[in-house]
Amino acid sequence: MTAYIRALVVRDAGARPAVEEVRLPEIGPGQIRVRIRAAGVCHSDLSMVNGTLRPPHPLVLGHEAAGEVVEAGAGVTRVREGAHVALNWSPPCRECWFCTHGEPWLCVQANVAALENGSTLNGTPVHVTLGLGAFAEQVVVPERAVIPVPDELGWESAALLGCAVLTGTGAVRNTARVAEGDSVVVIGLGGVGLSVVAAARAAGAATVIAVDVTEAKKALAETAGATEFLVSSETLSRDIRARTAGRGADHAFECVGRAATIRAAWRATRRGGQVVVVGMGRADDMVELSALEIFNSARTLRASVYGSSDPDREIPALAQEVLSGTLKLDHLITDRITLREVPAAFDRMSRGEGARSMVIF
Ligand SMILES: [Zn+2]
Ligand SMILES: [Zn+2]
Repeated sequence: MTAYIRALVVRDAGARPAVEEVRLPEIGPGQIRVRIRAAGVCHSDLSMVNGTLRPPHPLVLGHEAAGEVVEAGAGVTRVREGAHVALNWSPPCRECWFCTHGEPWLCVQANVAALENGSTLNGTPVHVTLGLGAFAEQVVVPERAVIPVPDELGWESAALLGCAVLTGTGAVRNTARVAEGDSVVVIGLGGVGLSVVAAARAAGAATVIAVDVTEAKKALAETAGATEFLVSSETLSRDIRARTAGRGADHAFECVGRAATIRAAWRATRRGGQVVVVGMGRADDMVELSALEIFNSARTLRASVYGSSDPDREIPALAQEVLSGTLKLDHLITDRITLREVPAAFDRMSRGEGARSMVIF
C-alpha cells in the first residue's frame, strides 16, 4: 500500500525545515511500516541543519522515535502488526567483523548518516536521517531497525530509549564503566548529558559535577542526580579540582561535540583518568594536545558511539528499568510539540534552553 504522509524535510543546506507531504515506498520483504507516535528532538538533528554535519538533501529529519507497527513485509519475524517498537538508528548487520567481534555499535553497515529508502517528495528521491527519517507520521524501515518494547512503557519513554537514554546510559556503563565512589564530570546537559548524570549517580558515583553554559540547567541537573552544578568559565578546571580532592575527576563526559569542551573535559580529569567524548562534532574542529601532556597525564581519551551498546539487548533491559521505577525519564522532556514546531525547538536547543522537546503525533 502506498502512503502519503507528513514529514519534516530540509530541502537544501541552510534551508529552514518545513512540513512536506512525502510519498512512502511500498514495503518489501523484511521491511516494516511504523506509525510514529513520539519523536524526540536530538542534538544530532540540529547538527544536520546548522552546518555541523553535511548530509545530502532533500532530507527527512528525526531518528529518536517510537511507534506501532502497521504493516510487516514478507518474512518478517521480529514483530507483528500492532507491536509497539522503539527505532534503532544503528541497526547491526550481525555479520561484519565488528558485529562478530562484540562491537555491534561499530557495525560497518549500520552507521549511514542519511540514505534513500524509496521515499519521494514531488517525485524526487528524498533521504532519510540515519535510515529512519522519524519526524514523519510513518516510516518504512528494515526489520532490524525496530525493537519491540512493552505496551505499558509509553511512547515518550520508548522514543527516549532509542537515542538519548541508550547513548547516555551506555557511555557510563559500557564505555567508561563508572564504579562505586568514582568522581564524574559531565559537560553539556541536553538529553544525553542529563542521561549521563542519572546513570553515573545510579552507578554509585560519589561526586557528579554537571557543567553547562548558564544557570538555566541547574534544576534539571539536580533532578537528574548531580551533586554539584557549575557554569562553565575560565576557572572550570580549578573549580573541579577543588571538588575532587585537588586531583581532578576520575571520568569526564563531553556531551557537546566541540574541541573547546573536549579540552575542558581533558583538563577536568585526574592523572590517569578517562575522558569520554559522547558529543558528535565537526570534521574540521581540531583538538590540540601536546605530546608531553598526553604522556605525562596518562589519561585515556575515547569516544562512545551509541553508548557502546547492543540496542537489541539493552533497549528492552532499559525498558524494564523504567517500568520498575529504577530509571526515571519524565524530567528529560521539557517541551511537548507538534511536527511544525520542531524548528522552534532547534532554536531553543541552540540557545541552550530545556532538555528534550518531544514531538507527539
Ligand atoms: Zn540522537
Ligand atoms: Zn555489522
